[in-house]
Amino acid sequence: MSDAQGENLRAALEVGYHLLERGAPAAAAVEQAIRALERSGLFNAGLGARLQLDGARRMDASIMEGRELRAGAVASIEGIVHPITAARLVMEETDHVLLVGPMATRFVKHFKLERKRNPALKQVSYDMMLKRARLARDRGGTVGAVALDCCGTVAAGASTGGIARMLPGRVGDTPLIGCGVYADNQAGAVSMTGIGEGIIRLVAAKTICEQLEKGETPASAARHVLKMLVARIQGSAGALVLAPDGRFAIAHVTPHMAAGWWNGKGKPVVGDRFR
Ligand code: ASP
Repeated sequence: MSDAQGENLRAALEVGYHLLERGAPAAAAVEQAIRALERSGLFNAGLGARLQLDGARRMDASIMEGRELRAGAVASIEGIVHPITAARLVMEETDHVLLVGPMATRFVKHFKLERKRNPALKQVSYDMMLKRARLARDRGGTVGAVALDCCGTVAAGASTGGIARMLPGRVGDTPLIGCGVYADNQAGAVSMTGIGEGIIRLVAAKTICEQLEKGETPASAARHVLKMLVARIQGSAGALVLAPDGRFAIAHVTPHMAAGWWNGKGKPVVGDRFR
């Protein structure tokens, strides 16, 4: 984690916490913390989102709140700075959960979200893209947040530009409710990062919530599912896990995961190893 990323994480934690302190709902804190990370260009989300193999920047994001189990998400959205706000608009302004592709982009045009020019598309044959997509994958830099507000509601969100060497149109776990994020006041809130294909196959965020509901601590619920991810499908991921009573865990089976937390006392804590 670079110093700039550390600073950006601290700033995002402060933005989120100060909103909660003033009585804002957990979903607002999650959205605003993620916006600070999307805007920095320092992570693989928003201004820093990586490109798909045809040179396009298609992004995914989702948000969920745990009181009424409301959720919103966008997938393969292009040309905007803040996909997390697009996801929150889907949650707040529609009866839907997920909008995709050009129609998601059209939806946010209606709300006049800040735009960002798309890079020019590359002329690459589909054969070549398929070959490149089969090379070993790497990941990194998806942003996410979980929060608990003064009314006892939890929320989770995530925003990403995906993984390296993605075929055009590839969608990962991030916009899939239950996979990349889940929030339920009776269980907790979870936001995942890592190779989305594995996270989807284990419905990881919801599975961690189910462990919390059974009475496991955030740390053991996360360990349980991350272990299963490695053992069953050689997956790779990290999780932010928050229980409704405020206990939390930052857990990962990747060598590093830049993350942090703050409960308003002292300075926000950030680091890149939490095992
Ligand atoms: N989970 C994201 C995806 O698969 C990538 C990441 O977390 O870095 O799209």
